[in-house]
Amino acid sequence: MASLDTLVSYLYIILAVLGALLAALWLSVIIWAFRDMRGRTRDLFAQLLAGLVVAALPGVGLVIYLVLRPPETLAEAYERALQEEALLQEIEERPICPGCSRIVHKDWILCPHCHTRLRKRCLDCDQLMELHWNLCPYCGNQHVDVYVGGGVEEEEVKRNVKQDSR
Ligand SMILES: [Zn+2]
Ligand SMILES: [Zn+2]
Repeated sequence: MASLDTLVSYLYIILAVLGALLAALWLSVIIWAFRDMRGRTRDLFAQLLAGLVVAALPGVGLVIYLVLRPPETLAEAYERALQEEALLQEIEERPICPGCSRIVHKDWILCPHCHTRLRKRCLDCDQLMELHWNLCPYCGNQHVDVYVGGGVEEEEVKRNVKQDSR
């Protein structure tokens, strides 16, 4: 029965090759899970646990890992944090009217909603300045009133106030 012997030995070879392939697959899945977890958490225990689950339960362990792993990689989480921070900064940097808390444009002199004075103009160079500045940072004009800015409408306001008090 030489033919049966050869058949059996072929079967052994096929089984051995299959076994080796499966072992290689099993090992590579463990290494993949460990590496994948390393990209998602800095916790060494979680990384080892991921490798262990995948190693102890071939096939099923991988499914469990894929279900339970953190949805975001560290790189993705970092990028999202950066984006959120940029968005937050954009919102914070948007100037708000101190009178009515509505969003105003940074070049506006008066709030169009409540008519609060937002900025003043330098009489010499016409640049916009903060209301509390007492010198112009653009042209060096030091004769700037802290509270009362230049400009025609400001003088009109003053005149109106005088007329009202009369
Ligand atoms: Zn306002
Ligand atoms: Zn100026």
